[in-house]
Amino acid sequence: MKQRVVAGNWKMNTLMHEAWRLVEEIQQGVDARTIPSNIDIVVCPPFLWINDTVVRLTGNRGATEPSVIRCGAQDCHHEASGAFTGDVSASMLVDIGCRDVIVGHSERRQYHGETNELIARKITAALRAGLRPIVCIGESLDERALGRTAEVVSTQIDQLVAHAGADALSASVVAYEPLWAIGTGVAATTDQAQEVHALIRSRLSTHGAPDTPILYGGSVNATNAADYFACPEIDGALVGGASLSSTTFLAIISAACAAWAE
Ligand code: PEP
Repeated sequence: MKQRVVAGNWKMNTLMHEAWRLVEEIQQGVDARTIPSNIDIVVCPPFLWINDTVVRLTGNRGATEPSVIRCGAQDCHHEASGAFTGDVSASMLVDIGCRDVIVGHSERRQYHGETNELIARKITAALRAGLRPIVCIGESLDERALGRTAEVVSTQIDQLVAHAGADALSASVVAYEPLWAIGTGVAATTDQAQEVHALIRSRLSTHGAPDTPILYGGSVNATNAADYFACPEIDGALVGGASLSSTTFLAIISAACAAWAE
């Protein structure tokens, strides 16, 4: 059965008291709903809040008895350990109960110069440590305007497969996030998203990874989530701004539960 995923990327937002309130409200909302086992709910707080988030979500049971809501990180280093000041390894994240990690987010690509090759190394490091990578790809506004969307997205997948291997992509989640839709309020139409998702599915299938869940990300909110989840090739959402409100994030979770009830 294909796994569906609703993941919240908090980015560099929340002070500690805000993070705890958000975790508590999301947890209460999730407890009040029936989450089918084919839907993963993930929150990705800033590194500093991960440890306590896991403790709060698991009631201190840690990784031995995982919580319904999975805790993820927003990035990890590509090496297992060493002299990398300020960085965080995948095994450190696993050690404190993280289960997922976003890699290759466009903000990492843009502000930290991350290439597909480096992102592939992060995918490998994450999987080795036991994390599930949520791998972001997507085109810029200029690339779309020039009609290069298919080429850009295909190249990203091909390079990730070339450096990390098809098995790594099979064990990952892919998030299609058109850069022009991230944080802009200009979400892709369902037709635009579905078209690129179908292309990604076909490319992944060619590489032998046909069942990788493919999420849409880019200005997903409480109003448009259900429309995306009705698209055959959309397996969930990576949510930025709307994941900072428990009300909106829970509405998106409800839309996923309605779309994919077992
Ligand atoms: C993101 O940053 O991954 C994202 C999709 O942001 P937003 O939902 O705010 O567009």
